[in-house]
Amino acid sequence: MPTEPLLSLENLSAHYVSQQGTRVVRPVDDVTLSLGAGETLGIVGESGSGKSTLALTIMRLLPPAARIVSGRMMFDGENLLEKSDAEMRRVRGKRIAMILQDPMASLNPLFSIGNQVGEPIRVHEGASFAKAWQRAIGLLKSVRIASPATRVTQFPHEMSGGMRQRIVGAIGISCEPRLLIADEPTTSLDLTIQAQYLALLRDLQREHGLALIFITHNLGIVAKMCDQLAVMYAGRMVEKGPVSRVFSAPAHPYTKALLGSIPRMTDSRARLTAIDGQPPDLSAMPPGCAFAPRCPAAMARCAVEAPPQTDIGTGHSVRCWLAAPTTAGAAA
Ligand code: SF4
Repeated sequence: MPTEPLLSLENLSAHYVSQQGTRVVRPVDDVTLSLGAGETLGIVGESGSGKSTLALTIMRLLPPAARIVSGRMMFDGENLLEKSDAEMRRVRGKRIAMILQDPMASLNPLFSIGNQVGEPIRVHEGASFAKAWQRAIGLLKSVRIASPATRVTQFPHEMSGGMRQRIVGAIGISCEPRLLIADEPTTSLDLTIQAQYLALLRDLQREHGLALIFITHNLGIVAKMCDQLAVMYAGRMVEKGPVSRVFSAPAHPYTKALLGSIPRMTDSRARLTAIDGQPPDLSAMPPGCAFAPRCPAAMARCAVEAPPQTDIGTGHSVRCWLAAPTTAGAAA
């Protein structure tokens, strides 16, 4: 019997609206996806494609100018959009946790590491300061920080970049969430520490059975870490499916271009393939496919009609007229 996914987003849209209400920016537009317990989803796309805003939408942490305008967001059998702010505060950090891009900006320079790692345990579990402090020592140990009993007494400026990254990871898993969203978790790490940190996240996932969403520019990390891949472009999810399927048979021209721009050891190309042009202005989206001005396969209808999401088998779907069953556009 099929089990309910842990997280399910249906036609979710989040928009920024200017004060006068005249300008609307659509960083998350009609996104549908699902993720099972213990699974890992990688979300990739250029800067500004809406990846981080999607994460903030799931956490219901959008800035005041933004709002969720439509869709459904089910998590563990509950609709997150129906929860009050107080109820969401009990979800965040406890059942869904997020590791933000910049560990230095996530840590408060005025509080000790033990205080910050123990805070979610005090807030969500009502633990005493002493008990949370002891748990913080154990958490630092689990993220492989040496001398954890000493480190908890220190402050963020006394840690290296790699240690700070692992500390925000420890805060993320402190209350054993069911879903962990990691937004570019390895950008400030050198390659050796990056490999150790990814292995650590995988171990934590195995031990705690948590579902992971990885937001990254790095397709190598996706290949190593993820079961599912979702590709975002201009706020829309243009392709998604099992990682092996999307890597071996990408169906969307944007995904093909992204994969074609990766340098390979066996590459004989003198120059890497670049994707010409720029992503569209999210406040002035073209009426048809947002990728049309940059797409080498664009047809006449692409400029005027947005393609529907088409299921192309084994959990693989794509938003492109080339995959739609009734493709009948004349070549541009
Ligand atoms: Fe290219 Fe048209 Fe497909 Fe958009 S819908 S990706 S423009 S072929």
